[in-house]
Amino acid sequence: MYTATKNIKLPTTITGSLPRPLWYTENLGRRSFMEAMVNSRFREQYTDAVSCFLRDQEMAGLDIVTDGDARFDTEIGGYSWFSYPLTRLDGIDFSTAYGRPTLMGRVPFPRGHILHEGLEARIQPTIIGPIGRGKLQYTPLFLTAQSLTDRPVKFGSITAELLGLALKDNHYKSRRERILAIADALNEELAEVVANGCTVIQLEEPQIHLLGLRGGVDTEMTLDFMVEVFNRTVKGLRDKCEVWGHSCWGNPSQQRMFATAQTYKPTLALYNQCDADVLTFETCSSAGMDLEAIGKEITGKKIAIGVIDHHTLQVETPDEVAGFIRRALKHIPPERLVISSDCGMGREGMSRKHAFFKMVALVQGTNIVRKELGLPEAECRAGEAGYSLALKG
Ligand SMILES: [Zn+2]
Repeated sequence: MYTATKNIKLPTTITGSLPRPLWYTENLGRRSFMEAMVNSRFREQYTDAVSCFLRDQEMAGLDIVTDGDARFDTEIGGYSWFSYPLTRLDGIDFSTAYGRPTLMGRVPFPRGHILHEGLEARIQPTIIGPIGRGKLQYTPLFLTAQSLTDRPVKFGSITAELLGLALKDNHYKSRRERILAIADALNEELAEVVANGCTVIQLEEPQIHLLGLRGGVDTEMTLDFMVEVFNRTVKGLRDKCEVWGHSCWGNPSQQRMFATAQTYKPTLALYNQCDADVLTFETCSSAGMDLEAIGKEITGKKIAIGVIDHHTLQVETPDEVAGFIRRALKHIPPERLVISSDCGMGREGMSRKHAFFKMVALVQGTNIVRKELGLPEAECRAGEAGYSLALKG
């Protein structure tokens, strides 16, 4: 059901992650979030970091905010996105975990390539018993953020297939069985987050469009199964909150995974079968090449387009953002269009400053189009001339 985007025209948001402040030096390690929050130094740094992330988004004028993925440690290539849940779910053993420069049985990036280091630093733990929610503790993470802002906090979680394919398995009989077990654990966890007031859940990142490209499709890992996993993970949630699916072309170390922009076209019809209220697409870094197809194939849902490229340090101008939105409006009606970044700004790729001004441009560009359409504009304090320090000198 529509909640966060219900009464806003051209609502704005980002995907999730924001660059960690340099002073945020604490890490969770293997502790659970609540164990770490007993420590006054961690508690202060974590809460202050989330507060800064929210304040930056409010200053920019985003309608729907995130906690900046502040729970993730400073692991190489953003790997904490995987390791946070892997080290906290029940049934997973790390005693024989090791780094592996392989993906789907291949070494996709040679030594000397930035992504080789990222893969080398990954660990591959083993399932030794039934998967359970364990100490994911998504609810206190959400409540920490929502207690600091009146704007809806969009809570994001990695998908079950990404976790399931990153594990060795001594317990389940098949990849399908273990992935569905993880989906059920995530579903229980997310249901609790929603019961505690969260109005927007985002699944990051279904592999529907990527599996074929990576050579991962076989008789067991079919694309239909990926849709089934998505729908099982969010089962029952749409009755109580807004469910988003974030489709992504990968964002390790803020790198593009492919030499040229890839197209969503072959899998858009499948994406439309996902039990979601909003689907996000990376459209900025591919110069909008799929906008027409997305507008045609995605029906009965809202569509969030990326107007900000998370790979680059060059800050988009409000005019560029506005121009991109006008192009999208030729294919997607304004009542179904949501404005976002392509992916998260990451923890190690860009500075807080770059991320901040990209968010400001996102809102200012959206405001240009809102004005043209006679829609209410968002307050963007960061762009108000009256607050300029230079004018006071
Ligand atoms: Zn992404």
